[in-house]
Amino acid sequence: MASGNSFYITTPIFYVNDAPHIGHAYTEVAADVVARWHRQAGDDTWSLTGTDEHGEKILRTATANGTTPKKWADKLVTEAWKPLLETINIANDDFIRTTDERHESSVQLFLQRLYDDGYIYSGEYEALYCVGCEEFKPQSEIVNGTGPFEGQKVCAIHSKPLELLKEKNYFFRMSDFTERLLALYEERPDFVQPESARNEVIQFVRQGLSDLSISRSSFDWGVKVPWDDSHVVYVWFDALLNYITAVGYGQDESNFDRRWPATHIVGKDILRFHAVIWPAMLMAAGLEVPKQVFGHGWLLVGGEKMSKSKLTGIAPTEITDTFGSDAFRYYFLRAIAFGQDGSFSWEDLSARYQAELANGFGNLASRVIAMVTKYFDGVVPAPAEYTDVDLAIQAVVQKAAEDADRSINALAIHDALASIWTIVDELNGYITDSEPWALAKDPANAARLGTVLYTALDGLRALAVLLSPVLPQATDKLWEALGAAATLGALVDQPLREAGRFEQLPEGSTVSALQALFPRIEPAVA
Ligand SMILES: [Zn+2]
Repeated sequence: MASGNSFYITTPIFYVNDAPHIGHAYTEVAADVVARWHRQAGDDTWSLTGTDEHGEKILRTATANGTTPKKWADKLVTEAWKPLLETINIANDDFIRTTDERHESSVQLFLQRLYDDGYIYSGEYEALYCVGCEEFKPQSEIVNGTGPFEGQKVCAIHSKPLELLKEKNYFFRMSDFTERLLALYEERPDFVQPESARNEVIQFVRQGLSDLSISRSSFDWGVKVPWDDSHVVYVWFDALLNYITAVGYGQDESNFDRRWPATHIVGKDILRFHAVIWPAMLMAAGLEVPKQVFGHGWLLVGGEKMSKSKLTGIAPTEITDTFGSDAFRYYFLRAIAFGQDGSFSWEDLSARYQAELANGFGNLASRVIAMVTKYFDGVVPAPAEYTDVDLAIQAVVQKAAEDADRSINALAIHDALASIWTIVDELNGYITDSEPWALAKDPANAARLGTVLYTALDGLRALAVLLSPVLPQATDKLWEALGAAATLGALVDQPLREAGRFEQLPEGSTVSALQALFPRIEPAVA
């Protein structure tokens, strides 16, 4: 299948100390759906996720837990992060850890190159530092403390006192790249998206960039600076490099050329690191900048942002244990315009599950298959002459498939789902209007009945293909029930960009009973 264009997509790497919440899962699912779509369309696809494991805070928590930072990270990766990917059914191609040898050695190589080329110098640094953020805070994020921290300067995000740190640091000459970055944003309007994020980044860079402190010597949990092992690399500088070290930078140049550049999906709170620091680092190293940096919005729960610092997190298993992973994947991508903030509520999730998945899609599939079983002994009928209403359904399917592909390419995942759902809605209306149960009463209508049910079945065939990146489990069941696995082969092998073409389901295939794709959920007993 790997014959088409290269498509490489990444999520941010998880900060290993966090507890997985639905915000992490949202980012993962979005990237996974886009990756699955491209993979099934025949693009040479690679999807990457992983964990960010260095830094002072991890060293501190490991020590507090009586272990080493590496053992602490191992435990969290095994017990929290890899299980999260299973919970929400992510089909990533690779998982990188910043403690991987392949990563650490390539980070050193990258750093040495910048040093040799004069982009790194040593200097004295003194500023207020937040351990929670792992960064020296800009003035705009320093506020006066209240309560127990009255009279102290605290971090605006963490509300904890800042530490005045003074140390010899190595600096990256980021200020050299102000003009080149502005030119990049100008020449490639799609480089940072959505538009609101792009505007913020441009405004920030227009104020002029400062050089970036990229090493620390007050602790040693990190990648050693290659020419001075009393320093470790600043965690952000280290973490950003995962996107190239994972695909072979410095080690496997042919794979690196095949994959890079990538599309980065990030939360908007870390967009600036990806849209400013990261391309500047790549420019300094003479490498291509990313294809795109896309900042999605925040999930709001009861009006508050889901974040790692405020303990409003909902564990993804709280949702998947009741609704299943397919519904999780569908809900967040359908209910929230990708790129904007969106609110999560249990009521909305329940309502959409019932109306859209169970009643809209699931019932449609069950009814059509039940009628083919009843009226044609389960054998897919041959269509006779198509009427205008049948041709209208074919046109809807064709258009939905084309629109959805265009939307996925633009990362408008919610629009892609809305397009695909026009097939669900139109097919439901078509069944109601065509009344196959009435046609079945008179043998003279047998040909017409066959045409209607064939049209509905082939529409379900298209739905299974188009929805497989989002609802991999439900569509697999539907594919089996349509008898398509036996005649057309595995669902994931169906070329996605041809899903809209009609009459693909072979007549004479045999359907089999379909259990409810989205079973009724009984309200939990309190
Ligand atoms: Zn902070």
